[in-house]
Amino acid sequence: MRSVAGSGPGKGYRCPGCDQLMPGAQPHVVAWPQGRPDDRRHWHTACWSARGRRGVKVHRSKNAPRYG
Ligand SMILES: [Zn+2]
Repeated sequence: MRSVAGSGPGKGYRCPGCDQLMPGAQPHVVAWPQGRPDDRRHWHTACWSARGRRGVKVHRSKNAPRYG
């Protein structure tokens, strides 16, 4: 994986950590399966750092506390 400073405006990526679109110009982390550089993913830096704790595509409603 590698960190990138952004690949320029006009292109967005979907972060697999939070499932949100992110501007390509934003600094972020690019990761790909070993031997498959074409299958790379673009992560928010924070999501990449937190991926071990949160997992991928975990919806918070499952474990969200209930109020009232
Ligand atoms: Zn994200």
